[in-house]
Formats: sequence, C-alpha cells, structure tokens
Amino acid sequence: MQKHYDIIVAGGGCAGFTAAVQAGRLGKRVLLVEKNGMPGGILTVGGNNEIAQFWAHQKQLIAGIGWEFCKRLEAIGGAEIPDMTQVYPKHWMYGIHVNIPLAAYMMDEMLLEAGVNLCYEQTLCAVQTEADGDRNRIAGVTITSKSGLIDLTADTYIDCTGDGDLSVFAGAQYECGTPDEEGLSLQPGSVRYFLNGSKVSDEENKRIHAVLNAAIADGSLKAPDTKRASYNQLIYCKGNNINHISRFNGADSEEKTAANIEGRRCAARIFQALRRAGITPDMEMICPETAARETRRILCDGYITAEDYVAARVYPDGICHSYYPIDLHRDGMGGIQQIFLNNGETPSIPLSAMTVKGISNLYAAGRCASGDRLANSAYRVKASCMAMGQVCGAAASLAVDENSGRTRGIDFGKLRQILEENGAILPPIENTN
Ligand SMILES: Cc1cc2nc3c(=O)[nH]c(=O)nc-3n(C[C@H](O)[C@H](O)[C@H](O)COP(=O)(O)OP(=O)(O)OC[C@H]3O[C@@H](n4cnc5c(N)ncnc54)[C@H](O)[C@@H]3O)c2cc1C
Repeated sequence: MQKHYDIIVAGGGCAGFTAAVQAGRLGKRVLLVEKNGMPGGILTVGGNNEIAQFWAHQKQLIAGIGWEFCKRLEAIGGAEIPDMTQVYPKHWMYGIHVNIPLAAYMMDEMLLEAGVNLCYEQTLCAVQTEADGDRNRIAGVTITSKSGLIDLTADTYIDCTGDGDLSVFAGAQYECGTPDEEGLSLQPGSVRYFLNGSKVSDEENKRIHAVLNAAIADGSLKAPDTKRASYNQLIYCKGNNINHISRFNGADSEEKTAANIEGRRCAARIFQALRRAGITPDMEMICPETAARETRRILCDGYITAEDYVAARVYPDGICHSYYPIDLHRDGMGGIQQIFLNNGETPSIPLSAMTVKGISNLYAAGRCASGDRLANSAYRVKASCMAMGQVCGAAASLAVDENSGRTRGIDFGKLRQILEENGAILPPIENTN
C-alpha cells in the first residue's frame, strides 16, 4: 500500500463519496478510508435510502456528482427519481428512493472510475499533528488494517466521517448536542429492518393496530418503537424513519454499541407483537447500525446559524446550496421541530463552514460541517452532504496544486469555476467590493 497521497478522505458516506470522486477526477492521488465494508454510510449501512433534496420549487439547486450518481443508478433500475418539475405538497416527496445494494455498487464503480484508492473495513484511528504558523497541520494519520496499524500521510485531508473523528483526533473543537439533566440531548437515531410481508385490508390493518397498541399498553412494545404507525406503514416503510432510539451519542463507542443492541431489540419487539397478532412476516434483515441523526459538529472558520439558513443568507464564500427545512427530531414521541423555508429562497453553505478552525490542511464536509443544531438538522440531508463533499474534493485539489496542501488562501474564483465545470450549481455570493 502506498504511504503518501495527495488527499486522504476519511469516511465514505454521501459526503466522502463525492469528495473522493471529485478529487480523483481532478487527477489527484486519493485514498478513501471507510470503516464499513461498503460506501454510503447512512444511505446504505444505516438503511436510510431516501436522498433529499436536489430540486425545489421546480428548479434544480444541487447537481454535480451526487445528481450524476442518482441518474446513473436510475439507469440501471436502482433509483426512483420523482418528476421534479411537479410541485409536491410535502418536502420529502422530492426524495429519491434508491436500492441499497445497487447504490453501494454504483458508488464503488464511480470511485474506481475516478481512480480513487479504496480502503474498506479500515478505521482512521489516530492523527499526528505539528505546528504550522499559528495553526496546526496534520502530519499523518493512522488507520487499522488486516496487517495491523498503518501510518499514512497526505497533503490535505477531508473529514467525512459524519462524527468528525478525523478533526477531533487532530485536536479540532466541536459541539455535540445540548447538555440536560439526563446527560446530553441529541436527536434520536432510527434502526431500519426489513419485514417482508404484504399490505392487508383496512379492517385487518385496524385489528393489528389495536394489538400493537395493546402491546404498548402492557409494555412489551415501546411507543417510540412504532410511533403508533400502522402495520401497513411498517410493511411499506420497512421500518425506515419510523422508530426513535433515543439518548445515545453515536460518536461514543459504548453508547453506539448500546444503540445498535437497542435497535435490534426494537425490531424484535415489533416482530413478537406482530406474531401475537397472528401475523408472521419474515424478518429478512436488521441494518447493522442504528443510524444517528446527529453527533459532533466540527467548529470551522464559518458557522451556519439556523437564522442565516432560514433567511437564505448570501455569503461572500457561498459555494453550494442546501435545501431542506429545519428538521430536529425530538426524543421518544416528542415529534419534530420544523421550520420551513420561504418559498423561492434557497440556503447556501459557505466554504468557511467546512474549513476546520485551527488546522491548516483539513476540511470537514457533510453531517459534521460547522453550524448550530437547528441548521445542522437541515443541511445534514444527503443531497446537501453530496454537494459539500464535491466542494471539498475540488477545494482540496486546489490546495494541493497551489498551496502546499493548505486549505486557506486558495483561489476562490478558480474553485467556483472548477465546480461549475464539474456540473455543480453555485449559489450567489455577496459582493464585498
Ligand atoms: C434515521 C435517519 C433518517 C434520515 N432521513 C433522511 C432522508 O429521508 N433524506 C435525507 O436526505 N437525509 C436523511 N437523513 C440524513 C442523512 O442520511 C445523513 O445526515 C447523511 O447521509 C450524512 O452523510 P455523511 O456522509 O455526512 O455521513 P455518514 O453517512 O454518517 O457517513 C460517514 C461515513 O464515515 C464512516 N466513518 C465514521 N468514522 C470513521 C472512521 N473513524 N474511519 C473511517 N470511516 C469512518 C462511516 O462508516 C460512514 O460510512 C437521515 C438520517 C437518519 C439517521
């Protein structure tokens, strides 16, 4: 295995995938380190296979590598892209539903086509830093491998681990949830399981619903296990986005383990309750991870506030769009705090919100980018993560070419030009002259 790369991308979810593909297409020697056996993160291993939101108000707002991925997946029968020229009453109706194994396959193919070196089932577990003026720079990283620990170096690094592991190991500051009397309040996660059954008649659906409610009443099922969804909804969604597994921090190994166990218990409770109702669908699979909606937010030079997000603030360094309402899930049966965007307004993400504070050669893209909890609950959606990843792949390539790997001081106009040439849609920028 090569020991030095131009760019190391940690984490191969939606953000890491596009970051690595973009940098690879720009001719960089890229290594993608992913702790799971497939790319996709929450999209695949986490089982949440809805991608929001490339279009809004009949206009495409995010394109580039993420959109190409969806179109290529659709062409092989692995994605259902709604007619985006229609106006839908609910934002989630613009979501693209993808087939999980085919999505991972397509990501593999696009990464390999771009010449990216892939390291699956290997975890980035340590970072070495050294002084670089008034900041630190990452001098090298350590990853696990089948032959033991391996030390690697790169000019520039991109943290796409969702949890911000690379940044935190490098000493970056971060925020995570809100402390409360019970510890740390974070959005709950959800587990996806694949119950294979057929929808039933309305009458039968009502009968099963009564049995599920009785199970909640006698404590054998918890209310957040189904959030009182009907049997037909459970079968249709295969558990997707239905349950809430609360009070865990996915960036803490012990708590993440407990959440994965609780996720399987939740699926087993539902299965048993259905058996008691005389229904025996197959439990074909429970996803390996209880997917976390929220963990660490890495502090960067810029910080997206909910106020700025909802007001669609125009930044001097705006570099991609994000489109989704504020969408903060509350624990248990607490519902969702939503703030909708004004019709016709589109929030942007500034490059500074991905330029990690205090580290000279590190970007953070996707779920762990810098902003407050409410803003993060919106820009964490997959199309936005894909847009941010592509930005960081292009920015890191420029940093390597022009700036000895340093992320600050790259030619911003050139970055916008490269992104446009690579199919991305750019937001307007504030004129600072
Ligand atoms: C239950 C749920 C429902 C959701 N619903 C929707 C929806 O309907 N539509 C939508 O668009 N979005 C939805 N989201 C949000 C969205 O799925 C995620 O925020 C987004 O996928 C995050 O992408 P990412 O690439 O930033 O992070 P992730 O998908 O978390 O990817 C991070 C990757 O990094 C890897 N990794 C982590 N640590 C390390 C390490 N130390 N070394 C190596 N690799 C590492 C992980 O294995 C993972 O593959 C939902 C999220 C959840 C949890």
